[in-house]
Amino acid sequence: MKTGFKGNKQFLPSKPCARCGREMTWRKAWARNWQAVRYCSDACRSGKHGRPPTGSQADGSG
Ligand SMILES: [Zn+2]
Repeated sequence: MKTGFKGNKQFLPSKPCARCGREMTWRKAWARNWQAVRYCSDACRSGKHGRPPTGSQADGSG
């Protein structure tokens, strides 16, 4: 039998990337500027050669 719940682990926040829309989970590195983080990776942040994710999403925004 296992309790499996320490009760000390907070729920990690998450939000979609402003670029690719992929859901990114809170990271330790973002602890300081989590609210300022908008992109999941540098690739998305730079957005130079950013390619839209696979799938046909008709967002119309861009
Ligand atoms: Zn992204």
